[in-house]
Amino acid sequence: MISVFDCIAYEHNLWLVLLAGLICAAGSWVAAHVYFRATQTIGLQRAGWYFLTALAAGAAIWCTHFVAMLGFESGVPVSFDPVLTILSLVIAVVGSTVGFAVGGMRFSRFAPALGGAFVGLAVAAMHYTGMAAYRVQGIVSWEMSYLVASIILAVLFATLATHVALTSKRRDAVNWSAAALALAILSLHFTGMTAFRVQPLLVEPSVSNPDALLTLALVTTCMAAVIVAAGLVSYILDRSVRAESFERLRKMALSDVLTGLPNRANFNETLKAEIAAARDGGTKLAVIAIDLNRFKAVNDLRGHQTGDEVLRRLGQRIQALLKQEIGEFVARTGGDEFTAICRVNGRASLPDFLMRLEQALFKTIKIDNFEVSPGASFGVAIYPDDASDQTLLINNADLAMYRAKSDPSQIVCYYEAGMDEAVRARRSLAGDLRNALVQGELFLHFQKQSSITTGEIRGYEALLRWEHPRHGLIPPDEFIPIAEEDGLIVEIGEWVLRRACVAAMTWDPALKVAVNISAVQLAQVDLSQFVKRVLQETGLAPERLELELTETTIVKDKERTMHTLRKLREMGVSVALDDFGTGYSSLETLRTFAFDRIKIDRSFVAEIGSEDQSIAMIRAVLALAKALNIPVIAEGIETQEQFDVLKVEGCDEAQGFLLGRPVPLASVATGAAHVVSRMATTGFQDLQRMLGPDSQSSPMPRET
Ligand code: C2E
Ligand code: CA
Ligand code: CA
Repeated sequence: MISVFDCIAYEHNLWLVLLAGLICAAGSWVAAHVYFRATQTIGLQRAGWYFLTALAAGAAIWCTHFVAMLGFESGVPVSFDPVLTILSLVIAVVGSTVGFAVGGMRFSRFAPALGGAFVGLAVAAMHYTGMAAYRVQGIVSWEMSYLVASIILAVLFATLATHVALTSKRRDAVNWSAAALALAILSLHFTGMTAFRVQPLLVEPSVSNPDALLTLALVTTCMAAVIVAAGLVSYILDRSVRAESFERLRKMALSDVLTGLPNRANFNETLKAEIAAARDGGTKLAVIAIDLNRFKAVNDLRGHQTGDEVLRRLGQRIQALLKQEIGEFVARTGGDEFTAICRVNGRASLPDFLMRLEQALFKTIKIDNFEVSPGASFGVAIYPDDASDQTLLINNADLAMYRAKSDPSQIVCYYEAGMDEAVRARRSLAGDLRNALVQGELFLHFQKQSSITTGEIRGYEALLRWEHPRHGLIPPDEFIPIAEEDGLIVEIGEWVLRRACVAAMTWDPALKVAVNISAVQLAQVDLSQFVKRVLQETGLAPERLELELTETTIVKDKERTMHTLRKLREMGVSVALDDFGTGYSSLETLRTFAFDRIKIDRSFVAEIGSEDQSIAMIRAVLALAKALNIPVIAEGIETQEQFDVLKVEGCDEAQGFLLGRPVPLASVATGAAHVVSRMATTGFQDLQRMLGPDSQSSPMPRET
């Protein structure tokens, strides 16, 4: 009797055995990798990867067996039953497909092991079906202990393979899984062959043709190799496609689509790295916050498409000026905000960088037949002088930028320690302002507006006052911008309008009241509806109300503003153009809407007597207003000379300290006695509630 065990040493064709081992290793490696990939996908893709896994594993299992069998020289003539041989291949592929799929299902934590066991059983089933196809001229018997051991080994190693592939967190888990799978196949085959016994019935010594068997072995190996290679190629292609799309995604995630510049995420990462490098090298670093000037006006006036085009062009200019080799970096970090990083060596290269940025951002942009002069404000903070913490550094650059923005004479501002103090103070003031309304710290003063020729009082302008409990009287120029920034102006503006109307109701004769309207108010509420409601509630005739708007208010959203103004006009409310001459497109504004009155800004009046040009300006405005048939009021008249000049030039109305300072309601017109007498007739409590405490304040004018 010949034991197969002996044959391995003496009668196996060593080359074919090696070939079988090789195909087994390659197939297992590919199967494990493809299987691992399958776990990262879902649905149909996952099913596809499972099938590819099973194909590679099945080919490896079957080919290993078949080639090894061809190399097994039993010393008796052999042949293969074709049906059983093909069936064994089907068992290998289908069995491992099911096994791998079950393993990946994760219905329980034992699923990977269960699937693996199934794969092991499939390997065994394949092997023994294959053995059944192996026809020898001899009596075949099996050593049961080896047979059982071979199945146990296959199941154990295959279980290990799927378990490692599916649950291990190790980076090289997939290689370990491949090794376990190869061991499952090899251990089964060679232990199984040890169980195999043949007692030759020698008719003729070896009728099998060794060359034919060798050819068969090589053809089989080639086929298996093709299958395994196909799996490998799919895996490699998939990996490179994934790597490409990952790279594309990474790039997209790090750059701004519109300008092509790095985005905020990219900026944060870069700054982090630059700070670390500067810390290690003991060098300095500048962070430059950049905010475009008037960009919102471009958007509002010319539409978002033009705005986008401006940003795109600026992005191109910035990219062209960067010297990346010395670490210059600019990212788009917001709508019209950019942030730059520049390595500084004793601030040497910083001025040069800033100059180039300034040139790029200030040069006019021509779009169609229209020109934009963008302009920008720059705020610089230096690491580690101004801050060593990333967030603080950016914050300080922003603070410096705001300073530059608020001061028209400065383009670049360097961070200084006092800046955050100013911002903190502003913030705390914003908080106080919220309380001011509730606490009754806000009140109105009224300033006379009279005819220049007759001196007759035409009306009063309502001017807001804030008596802060700690800081005393705060001028509106200081707190109204804060209220606008905060959105609080909407609430405050409503209060002012209601209160001014209620106050005007107490006047006899029934004079006009002028109320200032902020741009934010116009943008946020349906102003005409609100005005209508207030007029109804207070009973004030619409003809007695005049709203004062500045040009910036109107330019912000022209269409909408014009619509609102027309509605107000229909109601009978009049509209005055305040601060005329300080805007940049005054004539344009005048053409678009027929204002009821123009207010020449007090800065022109203040220069009367000192500069000839201001008189020329006043003359021009008066001529224009005459042509358009709009009355003109001059504000800020402080001296008799100013008054006389305006009278000579033909100005219609006047307002200013010379004629009367802003005073509390109680001191308006006929005085407090009148207010009180009026209250007696119109339901005292109602009016008193509406007027609040300062309706009975002292007759002494409160001065600003
Ligand atoms: P404005 O609308 O141009 O108001 C006229 C300002 O000129 C007032 O300053 C007034 O007190 C001041 N003024 C009047 N006559 C003279 C004068 O002869 N010489 C000088 N140098 N100044 C004079 P005020 O009250 O400090 O208000 C400043 C600005 O605050 C106002 O300018 C207006 O833009 C804003 N404001 C005041 N009250 C309100 C309000 O209720 N709502 C809104 N949105 N803004 C308001
Ligand atoms: Ca005004
Ligand atoms: Ca004004």
